[in-house]
Amino acid sequence: MSVFAPARRWQPAYRPFRREKAGTRALAALERAVKGPVYGCRMCGNCLLQETAFICPMECPSGLRNGPCGGSTPDHCYVDETRPCVWNEIYERAFAGGREEKLLEVLPPLDWDKVGGPTWGDVLDRVKEVGPGNFVSGMRDAHLRSETWESVFRPVRQPEWWNGDSAYHPPEYEEPITGLERRLRSGEFVVTSEIAPPLGTATGKLVRDIEMLKPYVAAINFTDCPSATPRMSSLACCLIALQHGVEPIMQIAARDRTRVGLQAEVIGAAGLGIGNVLCLSGDNPAMGPSPRSRMDIIDLDSIQMLWMLRKMRDEGTYLDGRTIKNPPKLYLGAAAAPYASRPHFQALREQKKVNAGGQFFQTNLVYDPARFAVWLDELAKRDVLNKVHILVGITPLKSYKMARYLHDQVPGVAIPDHLLDRMENAGEDQEKEGIQIALELIEEVNQRGGVQGIHLMPVMWEAIVPRLVTEAGLLPPDFIPPAAHEHLVAAGAGARS
Ligand code: SF4
Repeated sequence: MSVFAPARRWQPAYRPFRREKAGTRALAALERAVKGPVYGCRMCGNCLLQETAFICPMECPSGLRNGPCGGSTPDHCYVDETRPCVWNEIYERAFAGGREEKLLEVLPPLDWDKVGGPTWGDVLDRVKEVGPGNFVSGMRDAHLRSETWESVFRPVRQPEWWNGDSAYHPPEYEEPITGLERRLRSGEFVVTSEIAPPLGTATGKLVRDIEMLKPYVAAINFTDCPSATPRMSSLACCLIALQHGVEPIMQIAARDRTRVGLQAEVIGAAGLGIGNVLCLSGDNPAMGPSPRSRMDIIDLDSIQMLWMLRKMRDEGTYLDGRTIKNPPKLYLGAAAAPYASRPHFQALREQKKVNAGGQFFQTNLVYDPARFAVWLDELAKRDVLNKVHILVGITPLKSYKMARYLHDQVPGVAIPDHLLDRMENAGEDQEKEGIQIALELIEEVNQRGGVQGIHLMPVMWEAIVPRLVTEAGLLPPDFIPPAAHEHLVAAGAGARS
């Protein structure tokens, strides 16, 4: 496969015309000649082969450099079903060789100044700094080998502006930043829900949905162009929610932003009073309508986004090292995919998100509590459960057709046969059956340890949320019935936040 790889995909169009020393060009040509046929090297100039079990991660169609997306399966890549998921192969090989802990290191985004150039040049420069003699003698000594190797290769793969590692970085603040964080820390079993932003500029339905959900949930997510399809921005919806006394969770998909845009948007959101930020890589543009934008480049993935935003909050610095005078106050969340790939692979990926800065998870849709429990056990083995709050994703099924669509078409979603059968056999009562199934699932996950709440994703069926929350017995402790709530607002008592 490597021999036929599209070798120059990662090189900027201007690269062949850039003025460079003859030696640099010669080294790049040599590196390409060696690594091209062997690894399918695309000359990204920021080589990670040692960290990725010597499989080039740049074969990933989305350009992910820190692990698989939530849609990956052991069978194939979800963006390009004709080939295997390269990250699944990397995980297989790393686990087989006992090198899986290496995959925990948070690897940097591309430094585009280097793309197309030789990584070997950086390695040679480091060997010169360390001293060729010291390097050779260090590599000969079994006690010094690892340290010597790292002294050369760590600065190459982890430039100072990134400095990623495999460690857990607890948040460096004491008091909860948002109401959601306060509730979760206090042990309240919370319910969040989500609203898909409007397709146009009219906000009437959006506001009605916000008002309808307000008494029942701790916070509302506003999705960020799901299925890579444009809608009103999550940021705008979050601001409208704030104006209506509801705590928002801003979803932000790395797919549509550069590192500059991401930092700017989050600073802006925090400045407006939005503290909950859910970091996503985002559905690949291949899921969206034509004409499609580039599908192969995400400037930063969700793990890199978490790492960068945590540092902005806790260290008060931009990615380029400039100080932020008033750093953003952020409660950082991430998506988790219990059914994508294998549970122990996913657990490693979730641990990486927590280490990078993730403080709460909202999971993909859960319809199989037994498989969900396996994933939770894997998280427990990795000592993750005490470092993150987990909200379980639940979507009530409205029809058998919807159930089939979710099961067959949506990456990372699996509905067991017995639930599909129940929906199919429900005839005229499919909505009723879907609600019953959702209530049963909520009860099952509610009884499990290691779970702190439910994230209801009603998929355009927002009106069902009050009923589900009420019948599941999950009304918030400060619940005010809607009629009384309207009365209080009219009397100037304000809204629950
Ligand atoms: S990580 Fe980059 S430099 Fe290394 S083999 Fe892949 S494309 Fe080439």
